[in-house]
Amino acid sequence: MSLKVHDSLTRRLVPFEPADPNRVTVYACGPTVYNHAHIGNWSANITWDVLVRWLRASGYGVHYVMNITDVEDKIIRDSQAAGEDRATFTQRWIGVFFEGLDTFGCLHADDFPLATQHVDGMVAMIQVLLDKRHAYLVDDEDGSASIYYRVASFEHYGELANLSQADIRAGGSGRVKADEYEKENVGDFALWKGWVPSEGDVFWEPTFTVDGTPRVVKGRPGWHIECSVMSTAILGDQIDIHLGGEDLRFPHHENEIAQSEAATGKRPFVRYWMHRQHLRVGGGKMAKSLGNFHTAEDLVAHGGASAAREFRYLVASAHYRKPIDFSWDGVAAAARTLRNLDDAWRRLVKHAGDASPSDFGQDAEAAFRRAMDNDLETSGAMAAIHGLVGEANRRAEAGTLTPEDAAGALRVVRLASDVLGLGLGADRRQLTPEQQALVDQRQAARDAQEWAESDRLRDVLLERGVQVKDTKDGQEITLL
Ligand SMILES: [Zn+2]
Repeated sequence: MSLKVHDSLTRRLVPFEPADPNRVTVYACGPTVYNHAHIGNWSANITWDVLVRWLRASGYGVHYVMNITDVEDKIIRDSQAAGEDRATFTQRWIGVFFEGLDTFGCLHADDFPLATQHVDGMVAMIQVLLDKRHAYLVDDEDGSASIYYRVASFEHYGELANLSQADIRAGGSGRVKADEYEKENVGDFALWKGWVPSEGDVFWEPTFTVDGTPRVVKGRPGWHIECSVMSTAILGDQIDIHLGGEDLRFPHHENEIAQSEAATGKRPFVRYWMHRQHLRVGGGKMAKSLGNFHTAEDLVAHGGASAAREFRYLVASAHYRKPIDFSWDGVAAAARTLRNLDDAWRRLVKHAGDASPSDFGQDAEAAFRRAMDNDLETSGAMAAIHGLVGEANRRAEAGTLTPEDAAGALRVVRLASDVLGLGLGADRRQLTPEQQALVDQRQAARDAQEWAESDRLRDVLLERGVQVKDTKDGQEITLL
């Protein structure tokens, strides 16, 4: 194990040394559930999936947490527009998100905490910040009150986003209540947002102690405090790896550090920050207003059922710190590459039979591992696999590929398929409805012990490209 990762805080490639190799703690900022996630979001989820798969393949134990934000400005706005309560509305979108994970072949995290399940913990952390004078309460003119983080009270503020001290001093005089804002608007940010009537029944009424006096503050948590609290609750005060899209570096992750380190007194909150570069479309930004905005559903509607796997290949085989440029040509190229790899896989399986692997492929495996250990340099890792497949093909054509060599090559291609989540070799073809009906008829004949009819249907199926074998578990189907 000699993994190196690029830490966004120190901006350097550093050796990966987790606190406990048997339990590497990984936290990813997950979705805000109010709409379809776009393919930029999915590119980040695919990258984190490859990272977790690689950590596990390297022998680490991993505890992977991805939060789900189920209370937030846009959720309140859109649930009201849909005429649904917040919980019903978010449950529906959580379902869509989980379907997306499966569509893109992403393993599920070990935990998917919901923000609304951790409000007590958020209240407790905000109280600690009030007690330590990192937070203060402001009475708004409309009679509500909000609690803000005092940015100037935390000496390390701005280190992740590389803000200058002048930026931060300017921010010390202002406040932002919105969850998302730009560096130019750096300021004290909302930890607890006072309720306004337009938010309807979305509120909590905790009691905070402010300057020694109990105060009920009707409202809801800000976005940033959610992640500090959920990561601490599940993974502890300090975590190994924190993941997120490049857009989350500021203000979200900067604010997470300020909250967590000030509240726990432990530093660093995160040992390694990893950020995925944005996905671009046609060299530019993807935006709804530009008409080049794609969701997972658009991808499948436009490119067919296989497009999700092709998109995954496009993302997983490029380095995560370089921007991906999405195009349909790119998807088509990924489809061709996957077809070649699938074909190579099938040939190797056939050629290998039951042979034990020789050491053929060991050099390619070493190159694959070296590239993955170099900050997930997946393009180099896949180059090693393509090289191996090419060599196996040449040997097969020359008649010099032994079954043992084929088994050796297959072992390495399987490693790559598992780590990048490519699903090579899986038979994606399905029975046609007509073939399925014949299989069902044959099962009925067997259940009725009509052996002659069963044999006749076996021959009919064979003529139509379906081989049936009878096993103790029932009919075993192979598409020819
Ligand atoms: Zn977060």
